[in-house]
Amino acid sequence: MITIARLISGTRISQDIKNEITEEVKEMKRTKGIVPGLAAILVGDNPASKVYVGSKQKGCEQVGFKSETIKMDKSVSTEDVLKELDRLNSREDVHGILVQLPLPEQIDKSKVLEAIYPGKDVDGFHPVNIGKLVTRQECLVPAAPLGIIEMLKRENIVIKGRNATVVGRSEIVGKPTALILLNEGATVTICHIGTRDLKIHTRDADILIAAVGVPYLIKGDMVKRGAVVIDVGINRITKDKADQELLEWRKEDFEKKGTTLIGDVDFLRVEPEVSYISPVPGGVGPMTVAMLLSNTLKATKNIIGIK
Ligand code: NAP
Repeated sequence: MITIARLISGTRISQDIKNEITEEVKEMKRTKGIVPGLAAILVGDNPASKVYVGSKQKGCEQVGFKSETIKMDKSVSTEDVLKELDRLNSREDVHGILVQLPLPEQIDKSKVLEAIYPGKDVDGFHPVNIGKLVTRQECLVPAAPLGIIEMLKRENIVIKGRNATVVGRSEIVGKPTALILLNEGATVTICHIGTRDLKIHTRDADILIAAVGVPYLIKGDMVKRGAVVIDVGINRITKDKADQELLEWRKEDFEKKGTTLIGDVDFLRVEPEVSYISPVPGGVGPMTVAMLLSNTLKATKNIIGIK
């Protein structure tokens, strides 16, 4: 029997979230005279980082936030970045701060992330926020994991009591996602490169999160029938690396751009097996920007003391 899974559209859900934020921002401006402000530090000229920061800025414009990008030369020192953070930490019109990763090698990433005031740490990477997530306290949570959980909740997918498997254990996606699922009452398995038999764990999952960065790692026979699958992976495939099936499926992308984006899940084989699945593109990607904006609004409210 072939079932057709329900697509969890991050594009649609993220738009709903942005609309809600826009309304809150209007109200905040009207009643308190305050506009949330997000500042991003961009060190060097990594093209992907520029694109990410650009889309965050665009998101800010869409919801009515103030935003600014502090561009720093790729040769700057850790001290230079710390000084900039010091200024941003003390500015009253800046409620959210992020440092776009990766940073050039000479910069001490831990020192930089720890220098962001935790109340303005809208990426949720500061050890204080991570510690609070572990101990189930109110905190700022990394945006991609927050987006994943928001997608599940807005689709009314029950988390409590279900088996969840997270493939990937990065600080940015895998670990925080596993922690939130655990906090929400799931029984959680975390897989990584050392996992001996990945399939045993993925087939056991009622909720499967793939956050790896390996195209089509999750095949059709690796999922449980009726499971919920969230594909976090973003893998850019050039025309010369694509097989015939992908060339036909993503014909328009290849004709327009010469590349396409695929996830960690073999979508065409997995989709008939499961009850819900998030696509790539149009899944977790747009949710991540929306949740960064949501974190910035939350940080603003905390700073000015409103619920
Ligand atoms: P990462 O830091 O490279 O982590 C990848 C994780 O996958 C690691 O924990 C690694 O295990 C594990 N892994 C690698 N190969 C594996 C295999 N064959 N079997 C099992 N586990 C394996 O990447 P990340 O930052 O978490 O990102 C993961 C993917 O999500 C990437 O494609 C990235 O582009 C995408 N992403 C998307 C968004 C979004 O907004 N949609 C946001 C962030 C990231 P070890 O720890 O053992 O090495």
